[in-house]
Amino acid sequence: MARRVLVCRSLTVLLLAVVSACSGGRSTSPAAPAPATARASTAVPAARAMTFPTLEGYELAVNHGTRTRTGQPGPHYWQQWADYTLQAELNPVSKRMTGKGTIKYANHSPDTLRTVYIQLLQNIFAPGARHDTNVPWSVEGIELNRVAAQGTDLTAASGEGPGYEVNGTVMRLRLPKPLVPGGTADFAFEWRLRVPPDGAPRGGQDGEVYFMNYWYPQMAVYDDINGWQTDQYLGNAEFYMGYGNYDVSLTVPAGWLVTATGTLQNPGEVLAAQTRARLDSARAGHGIVHVVTDLDREPGKSTTAGTNGKLTWRFRADNVRDVAWAASARYLWDASTAAVGDANGDGKPDTSLIQAFWRPEQRANHWDESARYGQHSIEFYSKYLWPYPYPHMTAVDGPTSCGGMEYPMMTCIGGQWDTLGMYEVTTHEIGHMWFPMIVGSDEKRFAWMDEGFTQFDQSQSMADFFKGFDDEARNRKNYLDFSTVAGEVELMHHGDRFPSYNAYGVAAYYKPATVLVALRGVLGRDLFHKAFVEYGRRWQYKHPSPWDFFETIEDVSGRDLSWFWRTWFFETWRLDQAIDSVATVGDSLDVVIGNRGKAPMPVPLVVTRTDGRTDTVTVPVNVWLGGAKRTTVKVAKEPPVKSIEIDPGHDFPDVDRDNQRWPR
Ligand SMILES: [Zn+2]
Repeated sequence: MARRVLVCRSLTVLLLAVVSACSGGRSTSPAAPAPATARASTAVPAARAMTFPTLEGYELAVNHGTRTRTGQPGPHYWQQWADYTLQAELNPVSKRMTGKGTIKYANHSPDTLRTVYIQLLQNIFAPGARHDTNVPWSVEGIELNRVAAQGTDLTAASGEGPGYEVNGTVMRLRLPKPLVPGGTADFAFEWRLRVPPDGAPRGGQDGEVYFMNYWYPQMAVYDDINGWQTDQYLGNAEFYMGYGNYDVSLTVPAGWLVTATGTLQNPGEVLAAQTRARLDSARAGHGIVHVVTDLDREPGKSTTAGTNGKLTWRFRADNVRDVAWAASARYLWDASTAAVGDANGDGKPDTSLIQAFWRPEQRANHWDESARYGQHSIEFYSKYLWPYPYPHMTAVDGPTSCGGMEYPMMTCIGGQWDTLGMYEVTTHEIGHMWFPMIVGSDEKRFAWMDEGFTQFDQSQSMADFFKGFDDEARNRKNYLDFSTVAGEVELMHHGDRFPSYNAYGVAAYYKPATVLVALRGVLGRDLFHKAFVEYGRRWQYKHPSPWDFFETIEDVSGRDLSWFWRTWFFETWRLDQAIDSVATVGDSLDVVIGNRGKAPMPVPLVVTRTDGRTDTVTVPVNVWLGGAKRTTVKVAKEPPVKSIEIDPGHDFPDVDRDNQRWPR
């Protein structure tokens, strides 16, 4: 697609055979061998590889040894690094934030960089900014008062030589000196912005609550597949961010509470003795502690008195892809702990601090339950995926337009919720700590890698919290309802290029969550879980591409799943398996299975007898890969058959379940 000035390496899609051909006749059945009473009678034709598109950049990365065909990071894998030192002051009267900071950027790539790219995401609010979602406010972007690189002050100018150009939300900075492999470059910035009011996406100001997101100049990602990723922030598609350490100093009026990504470095300077004591009590595991209540919110009581009516809160965050913060004079502060298992690898159990910052009137939206919901979510995912590694997880009551939005160690949640919805949004955003905060994929180009995986994880968390609640059924219904009307778009689609928000929502959330359930059905629960978690472990604090996910699942499971990836990620094929007919032939029942949709999947067929016994036979997917549209399964006639059903467990998203049962 056309971009105005900055063009990154294009997302060239080539049709290349990626994986080895299917081995002939390998069963895809996750189940034990078919019982003697039922077997697929159709000879399995020689399977053929079903290729799916790969990316030129991925092929090159494999050739360069930065990625591998097994889905593990390659021996030459590299990624960039940045150390940020940032200071900001919020003035609630003018609703402005002034900032100053330095970035030490380390070039771990094998390339000499003469230009670097910096994200100025606040420029989505600049006059005339382009956006593809409703941004009701376009007044000011980020105002840069100083830009320096490698010790030299730069001016905004196009052309050759040192300088910078700002195009929308992306700055292109021409370095005074080339940045060689293994070298570092220092940048310095001074800037100012007006905090956007409620209605702005993902944060901003709402009454006396400020949720500060995308508030500083941030290095764009330079990676081994695409080079610089300089896609504009247009509102809908989310982010791709590199890892780094942050040292952040935030100045606000005394009496205001501040929470941020990272660990508070100077509690003795900013927190009153009572607040520190209550926080210690929460850390000691004394349940949910009200650290700051309605009665405490003033300088000298919740915070120290400050100097000239101000306090500076210092936070440090290690190995994160972003820092957000929130401040308000009206926050209550709840805290507790979550048991996360052995997060630091010393063989002993660890805990993380769970916090909620919320306004008293939000009790109506169940914010008094937030810390409990956060605790369950962190403990659940720590067991289900891997231990939560960060020092805290904090839910922040923010502007309505936040809906639910994730930041490292923090969520911004706004709007009205019942208890189910409040748990859902809380656990969803907390799920994002694993994808994409720890597993740092490119959310813009592959939204399913963060939203889809998180939607799936959310379903597991909800089923655990509301014993047996079937959130997977909701995802499946949302996908199936949309798949039968026109307008569905395949998953492998840039987040800013969907024809409608519904098409984006289905492809980013509901369909990939449903596809993971189907993959679980294909592989079996244990193998699926092992492969899914292994993918995450391999790519912690790294930048996986979709192919790293596909290859890891194949590597761990030992299966060729090229047909699965092609079907569910690169196409909008629908699944419609049917029992076409059942006829008595000798001492058998001939069950004719039709594959009426385009999607090939194995067919799990469950035969229930009048004596209550059930047999399961799985028709391998290879039957369909050969092009067949029908196959016959022979089932013993006796004991008498009461019913036959395809996929009674609803593992697969079939568009018509009525034709899957016999008798109808
Ligand atoms: Zn999400």
